[in-house]
Amino acid sequence: MTITLYNSLTRTIEPFAPLNAPNVTMYSCGPTVYNFAHIGNLRAFLFADLLQRTLRTVGGYDVRWVMNITDIDDKTIRDSAFGSQAWPTALGTQSDDPKKNLRDFTEYYTKEFVADISAIGIDRAHLYAMPNATDYMPQMQDLIRRIYEQGFAYIRSGSVYFDVAKWRKADVYGKLFTIDAENFQEGVRIDADEYDRESVSDFVLWKAQKDGEPSWDFEIGDTNCIGRPGWHIECSAMEYELLGLPFDIHTGGVDLKFPHHEDEIAQSKAGYGIEPTRYWCHNEFLEVEGKKMSKSLGNFFTLRDVIAKGIDPLDIRLLMLSAHYGTRLNFTFAGLESTRKARLRLQEYIYDLVEHINFDVNSMTDPAPQAIALREQVFAELANDLNTPKALAQIFTFINNNPVAGLQESEICGLIRFFRELNDVFAVFHFTQRPVVTAEPIPDDIQALATARWEAKRNRDFATADTLRKEVEARGFLIKDTKEGFVVERV
Ligand code: AMP
Ligand code: ZN
Repeated sequence: MTITLYNSLTRTIEPFAPLNAPNVTMYSCGPTVYNFAHIGNLRAFLFADLLQRTLRTVGGYDVRWVMNITDIDDKTIRDSAFGSQAWPTALGTQSDDPKKNLRDFTEYYTKEFVADISAIGIDRAHLYAMPNATDYMPQMQDLIRRIYEQGFAYIRSGSVYFDVAKWRKADVYGKLFTIDAENFQEGVRIDADEYDRESVSDFVLWKAQKDGEPSWDFEIGDTNCIGRPGWHIECSAMEYELLGLPFDIHTGGVDLKFPHHEDEIAQSKAGYGIEPTRYWCHNEFLEVEGKKMSKSLGNFFTLRDVIAKGIDPLDIRLLMLSAHYGTRLNFTFAGLESTRKARLRLQEYIYDLVEHINFDVNSMTDPAPQAIALREQVFAELANDLNTPKALAQIFTFINNNPVAGLQESEICGLIRFFRELNDVFAVFHFTQRPVVTAEPIPDDIQALATARWEAKRNRDFATADTLRKEVEARGFLIKDTKEGFVVERV
């Protein structure tokens, strides 16, 4: 089935055609590992996961997916520095070697990141590589040298900068983002990794060593520029090394269009002579309770914060996949609750299907027209620029109109097969028998309190009876009076 995707480069929805079908090469800007991932970051990674799963399941492609780990940048250096408050206690004492501190610090958060993404259904086995930027030092240096040799970079005080003015004479700077000419500050150099479109200027490729910071030797021209890479160069170098240019798809959050992705395009074209990719795909932002997530508003959550509130990570995954990736997602706890209900409703339907089947699903060959039609409709929605809200709506309409009890066996088989395929994309359902929930017995002391309350009530000592009832309720149980006496239940 042909998949269409919104391409930020052409600003249109286009049919997707890889260069080397059935293989697809895809690169996603990964996390900066200086803290636990927040739920906004996770939306970006879930979007990439949704895309690669749809390409496999609906498009029938083999996907080679790379997501980098930014283990060197302004923030990782700042927070791993000797004496930093941000040093995790779990890591013990710091060393006085900045490189070792950086490595230990980023390895710790990388491990936590991998745990987080697996909790929300990203399968590590789908990732061809998760390269660390610091393991690609020679490749980054090689690219900077190429850019320099082509005349699009210059050295100042031990740092290397990309010469935007010169590049603008050779090619377009502003392919993903319209850059107003008046915003361009010719000859101004910017050292920060992140900056906004109001300060378009020469960006840093390599930063001169600062006291106490990790650094590497770098021979360029006839100088040894001891220092470390800027942020943008790592993605360009790793894409070239691991996927080759041009690769098929590049993903990231909309905030990365400028400067990060714009700079990636300029670097690859100036250094390797080829643009990195043909399809640039960006996810919109996640907001919490209608507002930009921020620590000062108290609406900033890591995945761990949300799980600690008793939320099932599968509901977080489904909530994020329920909105179209190109629209802002309003993450609310009420939304999580309705997502949970929807997920359990569909899960119950799947349990019903599984319960009704007493033969091998895979050996069923009879056509099952309803299941085939549903599959066609749902996959067509997914193929249509990953329209997950419409795909889910089709599924719910179907299950509401087709109770399992009224279905033929061939339909049941077809539907189980379809839901399994669907789960290769959504990854939130189980295909086991419905678990049998056995009620745990009521503890003896609770039973004794309830009996004492019953006695008090019979003796018309209502004050004591009330106190005892409250005590039982405070411990998570309910007393219900019946004709014969009373029963105790868990809340
Ligand atoms: P970082 O770890 O800051 O490099 O960000 C990792 C990814 O998360 C990038 O693709 C960002 O664009 C994305 N991202 C950051 N904040 C949000 C947000 N609130 N909603 C969606 N994506 C985000
Ligand atoms: Zn990147």
